[in-house]
Amino acid sequence: MIDEISQVHRPKLGSEIPIIIFRAFRHFSANYANDLLGERGANLVFQNAGKDLGKEVSKLIFDQNIEKYLSNIINFVKDEKIGILIPVELSENRIILQLDECITCAGMSNIGKRICHFEVGFAQGLVEAYLNKKIKAHESKCGANGEGICEVTLEINNA
Ligand SMILES: [Zn+2]
Repeated sequence: MIDEISQVHRPKLGSEIPIIIFRAFRHFSANYANDLLGERGANLVFQNAGKDLGKEVSKLIFDQNIEKYLSNIINFVKDEKIGILIPVELSENRIILQLDECITCAGMSNIGKRICHFEVGFAQGLVEAYLNKKIKAHESKCGANGEGICEVTLEINNA
């Protein structure tokens, strides 16, 4: 799907949009999905969609060398203005990634919940593509929850 949507023909308006427009699409869709499917269901839709995107993007930036792959991810996330990715922990059983200046929630008011499920899935998809297996992922901090930064914790079961 990336190929199809990458073809932009907007000779007068160009390819950039204000971030508030992205957020309006993102948050209004999430709220409506919540009403329709309940919070658990809606969160899963966003997380799984993010995971599919993460897997697609991994094909574009993949490298067998983990250091190189990580640096490709950091650059991609920065160049596409998704946020500033900060690896906090990279161990055999657990990966913790923070996302500063998160596209979805940086600077928004504290609404008392973590909401960046798409980003969680995105990170999960990128890591699953590398490890070639399913892993667990959850959001362990979120700007929308008053925690000042977004953070994804990925649990790798090596058993
Ligand atoms: Zn967040």
